Amino acid sequence: MSMSRRKFVRRAALGLAAGAAAAHAQPPPEKGETPLIVSTWPFAKASNDAAIKILLDGGSILDAVERGIWVTEDDVTNKSVGLGGSPNAAGFVQLDSCMMYGPGHKAGSVAAIEGIRHPISAARRVMEKSPHVMLVGEGARVFALEQGLESVPVDDREMYEKWRKDRAAQSAQKPGNHDTIALLALGADGTIAGGCSTSGLAGKLPGRVGDSPILGSGLYVDNEIGAAGSTGTGENVMRYCATFMIVEFMRQGLSPREAIVKTIQRILQSEKRDDLHINFVALDKHGRYGAAGTDSNFKYAVATKSQSVVLDNPGL
Ligand code: ASP
Repeated sequence: MSMSRRKFVRRAALGLAAGAAAAHAQPPPEKGETPLIVSTWPFAKASNDAAIKILLDGGSILDAVERGIWVTEDDVTNKSVGLGGSPNAAGFVQLDSCMMYGPGHKAGSVAAIEGIRHPISAARRVMEKSPHVMLVGEGARVFALEQGLESVPVDDREMYEKWRKDRAAQSAQKPGNHDTIALLALGADGTIAGGCSTSGLAGKLPGRVGDSPILGSGLYVDNEIGAAGSTGTGENVMRYCATFMIVEFMRQGLSPREAIVKTIQRILQSEKRDDLHINFVALDKHGRYGAAGTDSNFKYAVATKSQSVVLDNPGL
C-alpha cells in the first residue's frame, strides 16, 4: 500500500513505548457516559445513531445491536457489509456475522451464508433459537429461512445478479472497501453486547471464513469487563484471538485503548510484515472506550446521549 501507511506501521512498531507512555500520561476518565455505542469505521455512525436511539428509548441492548447493524447491512453505498458487499472468487456474496450477549456469555454466529438480507439477525437467531453457537454455509441459510428471515434468491443466479446490479446502481459509483462493522454496546445498567457483520475480503476463496464470525477474533464480550471488535485482514486477527486478548488485558487493569495497543504490540512481536491491516475498537464496563490499528485511515464511531462522532485512529 502507500508509503504513508508503511511509515505509519513502522512508527507503530518503533514507537510503541512512546504510545503506551502517552496513554499512561493522560489516563482516560474513570467513568464514561452510558449508554454507549462504539463501532468500526465512519459508515457505522448511522448504525450507532439507530442503536443509541433504541437504548435511549428504553429498548433492549440486543435490539440496539441488531437493528443498528441492519442500517449498515442495508446501506446501498456499502460494498463490504450486507448483500451488496463484494463477491468471492466464484462471484457469490458470502456473509459472516456474529453476536455476543454478556449476561450468560451467550453467542451466535453464521459464516459463509448466502442470500440472507440480515446476517446479524441470523446470528441472533442462532444464539436465541438454536442449541448451537455457529452455523455455516447452506445450513446457516436454511436455518435463517426456517426462522422467517428475509432472503434474496441466490439459487436463481439471473434474478440475484439483477437484484445486485439494481442495488449497486443506486450507490452511484462509491469507491469499494473491504471492511466490517463491529458494533459494541454498553447499556446504562452495565449490560454489554456486540455484533459483527461483513462480506469479508473481496475475491476470497469460496468457503473462506474471516475473523468476524469467530468469537474472540472479530468480537468478544465479557459482561464483567468489556468488549472488543476488529476490522482488517481477518487471517491476521484470527491467528492471535485478538479481541479475546484485548478483553483479557482490560481484565488486568488496562484501559480499552491501552489493551488494544498492548495486543497489537504482542502481535507485532512475532510478525515480520508491515501489511497486517489489524484495527480494533473496545469499551469497558465503566464506559471508557478506545481504538487503535495499523491502518492510518482507520476511523471509528462513538455515540452516547450527548454526542455521535467519528474519531481518527490515534495510532499506537
Ligand atoms: N475482517 C474482515 C475479514 O477478514 C474484513 C475487514 O474487516 O476488512 O473478513
